[in-house]
Amino acid sequence: MHWKYIIVHHTGAEEENTAQIRNYHRRLGWRDIGYHFVIERDGALVPGRVQCERGAHCVAGGMNTNALGVALIGNFEIRRPHPEQVTALASLLRRLMVEHRIPATGILGHGEVNGAKTACPGRYLDLRSLRHELNSVLNKKA
Ligand SMILES: [Zn+2]
Repeated sequence: MHWKYIIVHHTGAEEENTAQIRNYHRRLGWRDIGYHFVIERDGALVPGRVQCERGAHCVAGGMNTNALGVALIGNFEIRRPHPEQVTALASLLRRLMVEHRIPATGILGHGEVNGAKTACPGRYLDLRSLRHELNSVLNKKA
C-alpha cells in the first residue's frame, strides 16, 4: 500500500478497549478491525489492522486504499479527548509522517474528507492545532 493520508477518527462510543472494537467489526463480517491504530482512553496505542492491508474506516474519497486509519476511543462531540490521548496521537502521527513521507496537510479528520458526511472525529478534537504543531516534522534534518 502507498499511504498518502492519515485519517483521524473518534469511535463515537466509550468502548472498554480495542478488543471490543475488533470483535464488533468482525461481527460485521469484516476480516479485522477497520482501523490501523487505536488510541485507548489512557493513551495506550494498540495496533489494529496490519499496515499492509487496506483499511475499512472511510469509504469517501477512496480513502480506504489511500489512508491509514487512526481512531481514538471516545465521543469527542460530547467530551474532550484525554490529554494522554492527544499526546499519543501526536507522537503516532509524527512517526507515521516520517515513515510514509506524509506532510501535515495529509492529516485529515474523517469529516474533512470530501463526501464524508460525519461529525467524526468530533468538535473537541483540535486537528488544526495538531497539524500546525506537526507542520515542520518532514523538514527537520534526520
Ligand atoms: Zn470516522
